[in-house]
Amino acid sequence: MPPAPAPRLRVDVSGLPRYVPGRVAPSDLVDKLSSNENPYPPLPSVLTSMREELGRVNRYPDAKSGELVRELSEALGVPPEHLVPGTGSLGVARDLLYAAAGEGDEVLFAWRSFEAYPLLVWATGATPVQIPLREERHDLEAMADAVTDRTRMIVVCNPNNPTGTAVRRDELERFLDRVPGDVLVVLDEAYREFVDDTDVPDGVELYRDRPNVAVLRTFSKAYGLARLRVGYAVAHPPVAAALRACTIAFSVSGLAQAAARASLHASDELLERVRTLVTERARVTRALRASGWTVPDSQANFVWLRLGARSRAFTDACEAAGVMVRPFGDEGVRITIGTPEENDRLLKIAGDWRA
Ligand SMILES: *Cc1c(COP(=O)(O)O)cnc(C)c1O
Repeated sequence: MPPAPAPRLRVDVSGLPRYVPGRVAPSDLVDKLSSNENPYPPLPSVLTSMREELGRVNRYPDAKSGELVRELSEALGVPPEHLVPGTGSLGVARDLLYAAAGEGDEVLFAWRSFEAYPLLVWATGATPVQIPLREERHDLEAMADAVTDRTRMIVVCNPNNPTGTAVRRDELERFLDRVPGDVLVVLDEAYREFVDDTDVPDGVELYRDRPNVAVLRTFSKAYGLARLRVGYAVAHPPVAAALRACTIAFSVSGLAQAAARASLHASDELLERVRTLVTERARVTRALRASGWTVPDSQANFVWLRLGARSRAFTDACEAAGVMVRPFGDEGVRITIGTPEENDRLLKIAGDWRA
């Protein structure tokens, strides 16, 4: 018999680039500063809510995440119809892309930026258009210049992963004024809670009178729920409705809904931890600069070292000393801000390495 033909697929998936996730830590003794996670464990109140939820896993969760939406709506001061929760902000980003773009369309984003973007865009059949960063920052002028009549979506990662840099209110407003109203601009604010520069705008304020702006937020980073997969979009009703139509039913588990709600209730306590990390970010940045490193100003929970061809060697040196960091090819290394002790160990390695 002749071999059966291979199934015909929509895109040549085998040719797509892959997402390279941070490696799983080989043991708890390693400092994992490679995935921008929150180093602090869940609060007791969050664990209690999750425990109560465990006995109900035989039932489907609330498909609309109604209580979570209601509480987010109050916390953010936006109507519930403008909120769409999903499987992490990555899941929401993917669904938004499916809602907005397909074969023949273009999706613009900066590069280097979050490495999931090109993969998510390819999977929809649309064409990713990458606009190089300028001095580690979004080049919003060049991004606006690159808009064509095929552009359906522009993603602005603010602050940018992996460089940590943030775009300011003036430049972002100027950019939004230039982008045609029929192009959706998505502000990915996965690290919003770590921003302490008052010139960096809050996307939820910017979206209010701009129907073509949507904002992505997540519970993974500041709220420390990375493993549970829950994030959300804030968008005007036509966009939010299209996004809902592209979302898989029950995409936010009951455990994730319970933990996200408990985290909102405990936001004072959790944001106190965020302040500690922001203080540590300043300390780590100062110490690295003092030992000769060039470090862009970061508004996120990580810092970026443009090590070029030495990225791998530095990553290996860190790993040999029990610290996992994240190299990006021959460009640089991203280091997550951890606990003060973890940061001290990183600073020791970085200080010695340069010397
Ligand atoms: C971590 C990260 C996300 C993904 O967050 P999840 O909510 O865990 O899916 C989205 N965007 C950026 C820029 C990130 O760094």
